[in-house]
Amino acid sequence: MSATTDHWVRFDPAGCAHSSAYVAEVPLAEDAYRRAVPKIADRRREAAAGWTLKRLTKEQWREQAKPCFTGDCAHQVVEPPREVRALTVRQPYAWALLHGKQVENRTWPVPAALVDSTVLLHAGREPHRQGLHDPRVLGLEGLPAREDLVTGAVLAVGRLTGSHLETGGCCAPWGDREVFHWTFADWRPLKDPVPATGTLGLWRPNADLLRLIEEADRVRA
Ligand SMILES: [Zn+2]
Ligand SMILES: [Zn+2]
Repeated sequence: MSATTDHWVRFDPAGCAHSSAYVAEVPLAEDAYRRAVPKIADRRREAAAGWTLKRLTKEQWREQAKPCFTGDCAHQVVEPPREVRALTVRQPYAWALLHGKQVENRTWPVPAALVDSTVLLHAGREPHRQGLHDPRVLGLEGLPAREDLVTGAVLAVGRLTGSHLETGGCCAPWGDREVFHWTFADWRPLKDPVPATGTLGLWRPNADLLRLIEEADRVRA
């Protein structure tokens, strides 16, 4: 190592370099860190999160730090993907949502954090008895025979765009009175529905299910 060209480099937990100082100018690591992060509370927070200060030779600096300062590194912090939820809807309404039923009725609004998030449409295991005779459903084109309606599986991936409280009979004929109308967009029906057990509400699909859905979604595309 050569004190004249070595650098102190501050790395985040992902290995991305955030600041750099010449060892020749700031001989002590402590001082270098203090210069980069003046507030002690910030230094403590970084230390707890796994940030480090390393002494690098000029050669190491070129390889490990320079790409970060020029924006060419592969460490950029990627926004964590928004949470994906699944919505269980009984047949034939799950099918209807993909074929013209524009809203889903719920007594509660879509939680703010889930507006515009990805949603999986899951068909419940048990069909909705009256729904099978619902004239609005029977009026939709292409309704499969009752035994051909897929149940107990994820049928499609889409976007939950939000919800609004019913006003003036909006979203007729599908929107019920005095409830929230949940709205969706960009449904992508899966070529091969993925079997899954659903539950009430907006449920969290586990990692295995998400992986299977991703694969099925790719096949469709
Ligand atoms: Zn980086
Ligand atoms: Zn409405």
